[in-house]
Amino acid sequence: MRTRDVAKAPRIERLLVIGGLAAGMSAASSAKRLRPEMDVIVLEKSPFISYGTCSIPYYISEEIKDYRDLIAITPEKAETERGLVVRTRHEVIAIDPGGKEVVVRSPDKTGGTKIPFDKLVIATGAVPIKPPLPGIDLKHIFALRTLEDGVAIKKYIDERTIQETGAGSEESAYAKSAYGNGRDQLKAVIVGGGYIGLEMCESIRKRGVDVTLIERMDRVLGTMDQSVTEIVEETLKRESVRLFKETTVLGFEGPEGAVSKVLTDKGTFQADFVILAVGVRPESTLAQKTGIALGVNNAITVDEQMRTNLPAIFAAGDCADALSIVTGKNVYIPLGTTANKQGRVAGENAAGRETVFEGVAGTAQTKVFDLEVARTGLTSLEAERENIPYFASTIQGTSRAKSYPAGKPIIITYVVEKDTGRLLGAQMVGREGVAHRIDTLATALYAKMTIDDVARLDLGYAPPFATVWDPILIAANVALKKMGKR
Ligand SMILES: Cc1cc2nc3c(=O)[nH]c(=O)nc-3n(C[C@H](O)[C@H](O)[C@H](O)COP(=O)(O)OP(=O)(O)OC[C@H]3O[C@@H](n4cnc5c(N)ncnc54)[C@H](O)[C@@H]3O)c2cc1C
Repeated sequence: MRTRDVAKAPRIERLLVIGGLAAGMSAASSAKRLRPEMDVIVLEKSPFISYGTCSIPYYISEEIKDYRDLIAITPEKAETERGLVVRTRHEVIAIDPGGKEVVVRSPDKTGGTKIPFDKLVIATGAVPIKPPLPGIDLKHIFALRTLEDGVAIKKYIDERTIQETGAGSEESAYAKSAYGNGRDQLKAVIVGGGYIGLEMCESIRKRGVDVTLIERMDRVLGTMDQSVTEIVEETLKRESVRLFKETTVLGFEGPEGAVSKVLTDKGTFQADFVILAVGVRPESTLAQKTGIALGVNNAITVDEQMRTNLPAIFAAGDCADALSIVTGKNVYIPLGTTANKQGRVAGENAAGRETVFEGVAGTAQTKVFDLEVARTGLTSLEAERENIPYFASTIQGTSRAKSYPAGKPIIITYVVEKDTGRLLGAQMVGREGVAHRIDTLATALYAKMTIDDVARLDLGYAPPFATVWDPILIAANVALKKMGKR
């Protein structure tokens, strides 16, 4: 690996990036692409950069065999192929915005090293929320955020499950490990029924783990409409996940410093291990100490060019907020797709190009066993919280023409502004054709379409892929009827 002392390197214009994952690496790479002469340095406190966080559940389930397959680029390749300087195990502990330097803690230096910058991108991401409950620090209570977390969870399961291989076809080996074999089945409690909690239900059920899911709200998937969440909950039941809703965790107990019980207001649950998935908070402590303005959910407030309130300092990704293209207000919706885009915009602006990030619709997709779940824009609850007069309209369509075999139901709910008919949001659930269909509606939100506009879209049709009136169009026509327009 090419090394040089970044603190003493000769002064050419320098961009420092704090954080080496989605937002940070996008910022660094786009700046370097645009201004190859710029000195671009990435400081990352963990041993890894540039890995696919979103794929970690599929590594734990063993659909992805090797954690190294999650890594998009190593520090060495980022240096040789992209011309970046990458320092892992380098944690930025202070920013001096006036003196334009950061203080870095690294294993090879005692005390802090000062590194000057001309432009700075903060891409410190988010950290899992750890509620201050009794017993929260017991062993075998995991959170899932980093590659190290994923490796630790998988190692824990690997060491305690009996690998049954060579029992015939690959499929039969999978089936045995998939649903346990009656011998000392490992018991997990997952706390939190959001995207990560649900993905982990599937992931560890596939490893033969007995799963209990505890959710404080009256439904999984937070603010999504019940038309969607009911189907998700039925699927969890079918896959033998025990779901306890409106249940609040009060603490954890266990002998010899390891968890064995989860205490809740509805009783005690046995657990060999616990996965806490109760949400994330932006990692904005460093920014706050620097005098950088924070906004919604304590995320760093950025403008459309990803600038913070301090000159020459940008922020991007899960540590920053974003403009909602639906409400026109700043929101905190931490997603990988946003982190990549914001990172690119921050990097380009830091390198001198004027680039704008228009905002987010909050489009998200997830897989819960064989179900595809997707959303964009506002849900009913969110429209209510925004005091927008709305109505919701739900239909059931199918993923293929009636004449073509094996079509699957698709449930679509639209949230529509009452007076104007403007589409505010859409949610979908089904076993085929959901995940990518939502993107049409994300585009409709971007274009500020009314439900009437959506009904007129020229969408494609072929029997294996859609009905002649695509479910998107059927849903729009039904919503129009509700408005008295059909
Ligand atoms: C299990 C899981 C599944 C997900 N699935 C999806 C999905 O399907 N689709 C989707 O859109 N999103 C998904 N997400 C969310 C997505 O992963 C995040 O939005 C994305 O990783 C954010 O990228 P980021 O670069 O902003 O922050 P992070 O990924 O949090 O990276 C921040 C980096 O900064 C480093 N850092 C922090 N502070 C310092 C410091 N002081 N000095 C040096 N380094 C520092 C951290 O070590 C970290 O490596 C998922 C997340 C998880 C956990």
